[in-house]
Amino acid sequence: MRCEIRQFKCLDDNFGLLVHDPATGATASIDVPEAAPVLAELAKARWSLTHILVTHRHKDHIGGIAEVKTHYPNAKVIVPKLEAEQIGAYDQAVSDEDQLSMGSLKVKVLATPGHTIGHIVYWFCDEHLLFAGDMLFAMGCGRVFETPAPVMWDSLQKLAGLPPQTQIYCGHEYTLANGRFALAMEPGNQRLQERMHSLTSLRQSGAFTLPTTLAEELATNPFLRANQPEIRQTLGMPNASGVDVFAELRARKNKF
Ligand code: ZN
Ligand code: FE
Repeated sequence: MRCEIRQFKCLDDNFGLLVHDPATGATASIDVPEAAPVLAELAKARWSLTHILVTHRHKDHIGGIAEVKTHYPNAKVIVPKLEAEQIGAYDQAVSDEDQLSMGSLKVKVLATPGHTIGHIVYWFCDEHLLFAGDMLFAMGCGRVFETPAPVMWDSLQKLAGLPPQTQIYCGHEYTLANGRFALAMEPGNQRLQERMHSLTSLRQSGAFTLPTTLAEELATNPFLRANQPEIRQTLGMPNASGVDVFAELRARKNKF
């Protein structure tokens, strides 16, 4: 992998994420949950911010943009077209399949509506890196606030089709809570049991549980496993469609 990544805590459970291209010095912040930790991390790394890549308009993803821009006025703010007006000042609005370049790195925009209507993710295809915002989490997925369940289901299917070695960074550290729900849905999944076991001790040591990989999620994330017989048995939905199983999983997770 040619780029360098820094992941750090912002707010209560958001991640700050910086991506740096050593070949050109280009540096992106994926969302800006709050300004101070992002500015501190840039200073620590001696990187100069050139891009801000926004996944969606929620406050905990854009709250620090204005202040960071006062320190890096040339940083180009890239936002999802469908939410551009609500986000405020921006330089470029992008939509599905748009290609960006960040220094020598190629970035592909994928529309992933569901959590919000305009949510997008950033896929650094040559680096096999995905910044998923609040769309996909380790063993979980974002709450579906603004679309019918099938829209989120289609977005998840789209991500499921990326190369399995894709490394995934997410907007929040929700992993252990997600894993407890996943185990309740699929208690016999041995890989899931092992993953929870090792991540629980990792978390106790204070480390983050991200990034994950798509392969790991396909093996343990119930929202990508709606066709598994054990999950269907837990829900009492042996013959339902994948999308109906997904909708039921999402509804149960909301109450879990
Ligand atoms: Zn959100
Ligand atoms: Fe969020």
